[in-house]
Amino acid sequence: MSNYKLGLKYAKQQDQNDELSLYKNQFHIPKDKYGNKLIYMTGNSLGLQPKSTQSYINQELKDWANLGVEGHTEAKNPWLPYHEFLTESMANVVGAKPIEVVVMNTLTANLHFMMVSFYKPTKTRYKILIESDAFPSDKYAVESQLRHHGFDDKESLILWKPREDEKLLRYQDLEDILENQGEDIALIMIGGVNYYTGQYFDLKRIAQLGHQYGCMVGFDCAHAAGNVQLNLHDSGADFAVWCTYKYLNSGPGSLAGCFVHERHAYNKNLNRFTGWWSHNKQTRFNMRDDFDVLPGAEGWQLSNPPILSMAAIKASLDMFNEVGIKKLTEKSKKLTGYFEFLLKQLGKDTIKIITPNSPEERGCQLSIQVINTNKNLHSKLTQAGVISDWREPDVIRCAPVPFYNSFQDIYYLVKKLKSILN
Ligand SMILES: *Cc1c(COP(=O)(O)O)cnc(C)c1O
Repeated sequence: MSNYKLGLKYAKQQDQNDELSLYKNQFHIPKDKYGNKLIYMTGNSLGLQPKSTQSYINQELKDWANLGVEGHTEAKNPWLPYHEFLTESMANVVGAKPIEVVVMNTLTANLHFMMVSFYKPTKTRYKILIESDAFPSDKYAVESQLRHHGFDDKESLILWKPREDEKLLRYQDLEDILENQGEDIALIMIGGVNYYTGQYFDLKRIAQLGHQYGCMVGFDCAHAAGNVQLNLHDSGADFAVWCTYKYLNSGPGSLAGCFVHERHAYNKNLNRFTGWWSHNKQTRFNMRDDFDVLPGAEGWQLSNPPILSMAAIKASLDMFNEVGIKKLTEKSKKLTGYFEFLLKQLGKDTIKIITPNSPEERGCQLSIQVINTNKNLHSKLTQAGVISDWREPDVIRCAPVPFYNSFQDIYYLVKKLKSILN
C-alpha cells in the first residue's frame, strides 16, 4: 500500500487501471453554476444519484397510473412483495442471511423498534452503553428509551470515551467498563463506523464481549453499510440498523435497513411493536385472524412501505449486486490510502488525521483535523469546487466513495487544500 506516488500522471494512471472507473459516469455528479463538475466528498452524508434511479421510479409511477390498486399484484414489480426484491442484495451488502434483513421505516425509527425488543431492562440490569461521540440522533433515541422505562437518562447512560488527548476508542477501556459494570448493562449500542472519527469497530469483538457479560448488543451501521465489508451475521450482534441514503445512494430520507440475528428469527415471545405487515403473508388480508408473526426480520415490519423510495433502493442495490462489496472495498482502500499519502506529503504539522491509519479499522472516510483554523477553510474549499463536511471546531470530513470518486478527484482535492492552506 505504500507505493503511492505524487503527481497528476500517477493519478491518471490509477484511474486508467481502475476497473470500476466507468461507474463514475453512471452517477449524476453535481456541478457548479458554470457547469463544472464538483469534487464530491460527502457520500457519507448523502450518496449521489445513480442515473438509473429515475427509470426505476418511473416504472412504479407508470404502473400506478395504469393499474391503480391492481399494481399491488399486477405491477411489473408487484408492490405487495416489493421489499423482498431488496432483501438478498441488501443481505449481501451487510454480510447477513436473507432471513435476518429487511428494508423498512427510517433509521432512528428502526433503532427504537429494535430497542423495544432488545432493550429489556430489569431493576438491576437497566443501563445502556454507547460511544461518547455517538451520532446525536442515536444518543437522543437511547436517552428517550431510558426515560420511557422510568430510568434517569444521565445515571443510566454509560459512555465509552476516548482517553485524554485521544480521539479513538480503545477496546481495553470497553473491557474495563464491562468488568466493573457489565452486570448493570442491559444494552450496548455502538455506531459500526463512528460518524465523527471514521473508526470502524471490531463488531464481533464488541458483541462477544457484551454477550459474555449478558448484555444485548446492537449496532448502528449508517456509516458502515455500503462502505466497509460488514459481516453482521458472523459478528453475532443481536440487531443492527442503517440508512440507505449515505453510502447506499438511495435518495434523501430513503428507507432504512434492519438486521435481526437468525437466533431470534423464530422467537415469538420476543416483545415487539407490530402492525399488519409483521403478520403472516398468507392470512394478512383475511383481516380477522389473531396475530401470527412472520419469522425473521420481516416480522418487525409495521406498514405497507413507500414503493417509490424502494424503487430508488432497488436501483442502487442492483449496482452493488453487479460489482459486489468486495471489489468496492478493495478500491476504497486504495483510494483512501492514496488520500492519506497525499495529505501526509503536505508535510504540515497543523494537519492531523483523526481516523485510524489501519485500512482494517476504517472505511473510506478520513476526518482531518486542521489546527488553528475555522469554518473559513471549509467555505474556501467549497468555493474551490470541493464538497466536504465541516464539524466544529476544526474537523473536515472527506469520504472518497469508490463508486464515483476517482484518484484524480483526490489529487485535485489535496492540491486545492494545499493552495488554500498556503
Ligand atoms: C445518519 C445517521 C442518523 C440519521 O438518522 P435518521 O433517522 O436517518 O434521520 C442516525 N444515526 C447515525 C449513526 C447516522 O449516521
